[in-house]
Amino acid sequence: MAQQMGGQPLIILGEDSQRTSGQDAQSMNITAGQAVAEAVRTTLGPKGMDKMLVSDAGDVVVTNDGVTILKEMDIEHPAANMIVEVAETQEDEVGDGTTTAVVITGELLDKAEELLEQDIHPTTLAQGYRQAAERATEILEENSIDVDQSDSETLQSIASTAMTGKGAESARDLLAELVVDGVQAIGDDEGIDTDNIKVEKVVGGSINESELVEGVIIDKERVHDNMPYMKEDANVAVVDTAMEIQETEIDAEVNVTDPDQLQQFLDQEEEQLREMVDELVDVGADVVFCQKGIDDMVQHFLAQEGILAVRRAKQSDVARLSRATGARAVSNIDDITEDDLGYAGSVAQRDVGGDERIFVEDVDDAKAVTLILRGGTEHVVDEVERAVEDSLEVVRVTLEDGKVLPGGGAPETQLSMGLRDYADSVGGREQLAVESFADAIDVIPRTLAENAGLDPIDSLVNLRSQHDGGDSTTGLDAYTGDIVDMEDGGVVEPLRVKTQAIESATEAAVMILRIDDVIAAGDLKGGGTDDDDDGPPAGGPGGGMGGGMGGMGGMGGMGGMGGMT
Ligand code: ADP
Ligand code: MG
Repeated sequence: MAQQMGGQPLIILGEDSQRTSGQDAQSMNITAGQAVAEAVRTTLGPKGMDKMLVSDAGDVVVTNDGVTILKEMDIEHPAANMIVEVAETQEDEVGDGTTTAVVITGELLDKAEELLEQDIHPTTLAQGYRQAAERATEILEENSIDVDQSDSETLQSIASTAMTGKGAESARDLLAELVVDGVQAIGDDEGIDTDNIKVEKVVGGSINESELVEGVIIDKERVHDNMPYMKEDANVAVVDTAMEIQETEIDAEVNVTDPDQLQQFLDQEEEQLREMVDELVDVGADVVFCQKGIDDMVQHFLAQEGILAVRRAKQSDVARLSRATGARAVSNIDDITEDDLGYAGSVAQRDVGGDERIFVEDVDDAKAVTLILRGGTEHVVDEVERAVEDSLEVVRVTLEDGKVLPGGGAPETQLSMGLRDYADSVGGREQLAVESFADAIDVIPRTLAENAGLDPIDSLVNLRSQHDGGDSTTGLDAYTGDIVDMEDGGVVEPLRVKTQAIESATEAAVMILRIDDVIAAGDLKGGGTDDDDDGPPAGGPGGGMGGGMGGMGGMGGMGGMGGMT
């Protein structure tokens, strides 16, 4: 690629690089963004459909979870990837609302395209969108409902709403209860860290047999057959080094000249190992969890003493175990004291779905808990896990913020109405952008209606007339198609899920709109972005990832997205 400068051609880009400028670049990026949104649109809401994703290696994931779909899709187009990041940010910050955020981004781009065609400058558009997003946050806050920390009923509704449409339907009430109990249990002065809830998946049995264990489950068996299966009122020791003869650093060679000497040497080793066990017995340990290996001889001695021991416990499990029982990990058993021991009312090996595991329960104040999720097949359990993970995060967010919104398109209806009012006060060309923003937000109730098999126009009209009449909490019941009070119906979501979705959707849309030049080193896979291409690439929203999608060629094993829209 060459440009003229003072008569001399100035080469600034490598031979393989490609450059797309101006409106072409904009159209290409907008189209890519819309395609990503289109890919997840049909999954929105309780009646949204699932996607089956097949990786190159043939692994199958069946999911309704926006961020999971986008991560599995192996998207390569840079602008499309910015939208995947929206979903990832949403997932990290609030755990739910990923599809919503992506669908809004797509719609913001869609509406922007219309304005660009009317020669509204991208900077004006960006400015208008930002103003609208700011006002949107205010409107959402004004409409939010306060929730008390101890209001378990509302918290369960929140947990349950986050699980809608994700394969956990039949056991939603039970799971919501377990989730809320779990999150309430682990909070401490430093807040709520959901890492302290271990989700243990068990294939076999039904979702209804899922349970919350106020304590920790270690996916191991006792190390020696002669050890007890169970200890009650147990003092728990946690050891993070191997319980065997410490290898000397230097390769010491032991020359044994006669059998007596050998025996002496072995006796000496045995003595050392014996002492290790004696230390544990002396401090009163009933159960030992070792992060590393345990020598056969030590196992034997421990069994003789009636101590239940587990070896090679995972680091993360040990951390939770310490938190739950109050045990302090020791590296040198010689130094162990009673203070290092933790306590559990019961430590027992039990069978769950055909696998033996160690349950550490009845601790004084379980600050680490385990959620056992059961389900008929691996795919079912995996999807239930994703639903529960979302659910855990929304309960955490609600406890942190204490503010929720009704769902079912209620806040979006408030938003689009409120933003249209606001647009009048903005004036200038930004006003058009604010109005477009308001229109774009309608995509959520519209899609909820579409996915529920309802007429989107009728639903929107009904929603608006209710909200006009002052019923700000009415939304679309996706099951009956009626416009009902969402708060009464228990469809509620954390305020932050919505504010975060608006914020990241706006940021991503604005970022994409402000790009007027795409300079790519090497070939953008899939082609179709050549300088001399006329006009925008083909294939609008819904047109699939075909020809015009440039860099979206690498869709893993998805075999083209056309059929998914
Ligand atoms: P996301 O990834 O954005 O969370 P979901 O598929 O979970 O996508 O759908 C969330 C949307 O579904 C929200 O707008 C929420 O209010 C709505 N929703 C959840 N439950 C219901 C319900 N019973 N009736 C109507 N809308 C619902
Ligand atoms: Mg959700």
